[in-house]
Amino acid sequence: MQTQIVEFIRNLYQNEGIIALHEPRFAGNEKAYLNECIDSTFVSSVGKFVDRFETEFARTVGAKYAVATVNGTAALHIALLLGGVARGDEVITQPLTFIATANAISYCGADPVFLDVDRDTMGLSPDALKRFLEEHCTFEGGCCLNRTSGKIIRACVPMHTFGHPCRIDEIQALCNAWNIVLVEDAAESLGSYYKEKHTGTFGRLGAFSFNGNKIITSGGGGVIVTDDETLAKRAKHMTTTAKIPHPWEYAHDEVAYNYRLPNLNAALLCAQLEQLEGFLENKRDLAEAYRRFFAGLSIRFAAEPPHGRSNYWLNAIVLENLEQRDAFLEYTNANGVMTRPIWKLMNHLPMFENCRCGDLSNALFLSERVVNIPSSVRP
Ligand SMILES: *Cc1c(COP(=O)(O)O)cnc(C)c1O
Repeated sequence: MQTQIVEFIRNLYQNEGIIALHEPRFAGNEKAYLNECIDSTFVSSVGKFVDRFETEFARTVGAKYAVATVNGTAALHIALLLGGVARGDEVITQPLTFIATANAISYCGADPVFLDVDRDTMGLSPDALKRFLEEHCTFEGGCCLNRTSGKIIRACVPMHTFGHPCRIDEIQALCNAWNIVLVEDAAESLGSYYKEKHTGTFGRLGAFSFNGNKIITSGGGGVIVTDDETLAKRAKHMTTTAKIPHPWEYAHDEVAYNYRLPNLNAALLCAQLEQLEGFLENKRDLAEAYRRFFAGLSIRFAAEPPHGRSNYWLNAIVLENLEQRDAFLEYTNANGVMTRPIWKLMNHLPMFENCRCGDLSNALFLSERVVNIPSSVRP
């Protein structure tokens, strides 16, 4: 069976060499814009590409404002700070995510609380969230208080795993009812919709990433989106060292961050964004080919949920158990087809092992069985 899978993937990519998990594709105006940017000498934090990218990105996802950052982790960090997350708070998220989600919460001095995911979407489960809030929390002084820890649950950060939209409207309703700020980690879900609305635009703030392995890339990069003008202005201020605009003077009015996306990276990103529609179609065709192939082998392929549209950033299959998973990883990687296991659960990592958790049966089930398979856009 493994041989058959490797052959199928080689055939999909028409490639006898090493097949990457997800490589970027630069087939548009990348070089032209980069040259233009270099010639302009505006390669750093000021320039027309970074402004242009923000405008075009906001339009693409249907948000009012977008603020570009050096990476997705920085975007999440600032989004959480602007959501009011402070030292001593708790922030609910899922244990099945990339480390950046939990790190960003820690940067604010807050503790992550890990709740279970749904088996189909692999994103935060509104059922688990509801159960946790009802069993452990009270609404006091306009805040959600975790009775067990005595701490305030300030924010909730669901993540749209591999681009599959989680049940974000139910999560949003729970957050509204408990006055918990919803910050979406949409790092993986550019081009993914819940019903007709783009992921990342349900929360008060959303964060995207343009790391080298994401659906579009600026080498490193990220963006914060919001519909709130005050928050957007704060985001720009906080990511640009809180510098007060002035023709020649250096004046800063608070301790802030040097998180602005350089214009050079934005030049690359403007060219990438122009190709997004084509990438999405290309990836949808690939996912459909995988879906049909794995159905024939009776292996579960992670397809988009009925409530939304996935960007199919990373394709994933769910194997029978840990042993079968490891055998598959061994075989495919030894044979030049890059595959990777889904992340270890955050609460199994040393720095988060003492964090509060709900029942994590689904997350544990998936963490032992899910494998990502090659998902690059095909030429
Ligand atoms: C990629 C990613 C991020 C951000 O990563 P950066 O490398 O900092 O851009 C955040 N969360 C998730 C779930 C991601 O996959």
